[in-house]
This record gives sequence, C-alpha cells and structure tokens, in this order.
Amino acid sequence: TLVLGIESSCDETAVALVTADGRVLAERIASQEAEHRPFGGVVPELAARAHAERVGPMVQAVLADAGLALSDVDAVAATAGPGLVGGVMVGLVTGKALAFAADKPLWGVNHLEGHALSPRLVAPELQFPYLLLLVSGGHCQLIAVEGVGAYRRLATTIDDAAGEAFDKVAKMLGLGFPGGPAVEIAAQHGDPKSVPLPRPLLGSGEPHFSFAGLKTAVLRAVDSGRYAVPDIAASFQAAVTDCLADRTTRAVRAMPDATALVVAGGVAANKAVRAALEAVAVQHGLPFIAPPLKLCTDNAAMIAWAAQERIAAGLAPEPDPQARPRWPLDLSAEPVRGAGV
Ligand code: ATP
Ligand code: MG
Ligand code: FE
Repeated sequence: TLVLGIESSCDETAVALVTADGRVLAERIASQEAEHRPFGGVVPELAARAHAERVGPMVQAVLADAGLALSDVDAVAATAGPGLVGGVMVGLVTGKALAFAADKPLWGVNHLEGHALSPRLVAPELQFPYLLLLVSGGHCQLIAVEGVGAYRRLATTIDDAAGEAFDKVAKMLGLGFPGGPAVEIAAQHGDPKSVPLPRPLLGSGEPHFSFAGLKTAVLRAVDSGRYAVPDIAASFQAAVTDCLADRTTRAVRAMPDATALVVAGGVAANKAVRAALEAVAVQHGLPFIAPPLKLCTDNAAMIAWAAQERIAAGLAPEPDPQARPRWPLDLSAEPVRGAGV
C-alpha cells in the first residue's frame, strides 16, 4: 500500500509518499518562514495563499522524485485539522481532488495523530501503550497512546503551549521568527542559572502545564535591563525544560504500563529538552524515543503514516471529512481552566 500524504495546517506545506513498511519514497517540505517573518508570526491568510500556490506543484514533484504516477498511489491522506482552517482546507481539498481523480480512498488525518504515531515510522519496535509528550507551537500535552485511534489525554496546558512560549520569548529578545531554534542558539552562549525564573506547577498534584507566568517573568527580566540576551534565553530554556521534565515524570508514574517515553512536536527538536526527557526515561527504566528532527516539526510523512497505521488496523476512512480548526485527539480530559485544544 502506497499513501500520498499532504500537510498544510500551519506554515509548512508538505507532501510525502510513504509505504506500508514505513519507507518514505519521496518527500518535499516548503516552509513559509520568509513570508511570515516580517509579521513576527504566522499570518493565516498569507499561509493559506502560500499553501494554495505550492501544494499542486509539490505533489507533482514528489511523484516525479519517486518515478511514480498518481495511479500508483493506493490512498491519499491529508490533514483535516486541527490548525489554521484556511490552510487545512487547501490541503484537504487538494487531497480530495487527487483521491477523486485516482479513484482511491481519502483519509482526513488528525494532525496530532500524525505527531503521536510518527515515532513508529522510525521505531517499528515501539509497542502500545506508550507515553507521548507532544510539545509543539500549538500543543503541550501528555497522551497515553494505547493503540491506533485510542488516545487518552493525561495533561494539557492551561495557557500557552511550550513552543508558543519559545516563540514569544524570542520576540521579546529580538531574536526573530521562528523563535524556538533562535532561542536555542542564543542559549548556547548563556548561563542557565543567571536569571531567576519561576517553574509554574513544578511538583504540583495537578497534571497540567502552564507557561504564562514564566513568559511574564521573562518580560520583566528583559525590561529590567539587567541581563544579557543569551543569559535570558538560557535561563528560560532551562525553566521550560524543568517544567516539561517534571510534568512528564508525574505522567510516567501515572502510567505504569507504558512501554516507552516518546516525544514529538517541534519543541522536541530542542537538545536540552530532549536530554532532560531522556533522563526522565532512564530514571524510570523506560526506552526513550524521539523522532529525528525533521519528523518532529510539521511534515507530510507523519500524515501519510497515520493513514498507513489506520489501514493496517483495519479501520475505514471517514466519508467526506471536513476541515476542523479544533480537533482534540481525546475529549475526556478537559484542562482545568479551559484553554487550548
Ligand atoms: P501544532 O503541531 O501544535 O499544530 P505547530 O505546527 O506550530 O503546532 P510544530 O511545527 O510541530 O508545531 O513545531 C513548531 C514549534 O516548535 C514552534 O513553536 C517552534 O518555535 C518550536 N521549535 C522548533 N524548533 C525548536 C527548538 N530547537 N527549540 C525550541 N522550540 C522549537
Ligand atoms: Mg511550522
Ligand atoms: Fe505540528
């Protein structure tokens, strides 16, 4: 079975061809960083237009790279949400058109399921159930991945996502967009102990994340004029890392049947974050699995792979899926103070 995947939920247009045994035959990713940089963040209308301009030629390019035709594809998968609805619609409608033209099934994939199952694309030995920390620009969640389509959310953020905090702190520090990688680079030359910053909810009995107070404290540190940019970046990164490790430790204890600790999402590209989470896994005798960096941030291989997993599990695609700006993997655990998806 060969699946053509399309991703367009945020600011990456991506197309990939993935086989049932997890080989990525061809893949293209076009980032819109240049388009959004002047605005310091993703502008939804610009994003939708850029997806619309790029997705068609990228589908053709990926098929050409693999030396295949649309008729060689057995199914089409496109992100149906959550995300910026204009962009999601571009990718989903493109997927529908291709599936219709090829007379093949169309899978509307939950972007978060793509992130959640992406580690199995590179670590086929990874068994259910596993504990997933999904840390990205829009999400910060701990999820018990019990099987394909069986997700139990253990924790989410009550305010900002971790990646969002990285992006906002980068803006405060004048480091530009996208913020996460810029903060990580700046932090290399800083002292993580130089700026006293809070660790919201550290050691708390509730399972959730919070980063708003940390962000405000960073703003105060910036405004005080007392600290150098690298020191603030390093101290902020250390605080986020401590919070992620602490909340994850709590979840590991709450999920004794977990076979592994898995991390996915853009913030999982951060080396300090990865190292701290690996330490948590080691402390609890669990294997630590983090996908390679390009599979951590938004990509289409994970979207095609999520459809492959559903096909292998004997599931059927939802007929005529619609774009969903909000689409939680699991509705059973609403955040305490009701923010985010
Ligand atoms: P979602 O998947 O929740 O819809 P998204 O698509 O914006 O959100 P991703 O593409 O998975 O998320 O990740 C992007 C986020 O990851 C951004 O917030 C970015 O700042 C952050 N990020 C990327 N690289 C790093 C890094 N090296 N360190 C910290 N954060 C990073
Ligand atoms: Mg992005
Ligand atoms: Fe994402």
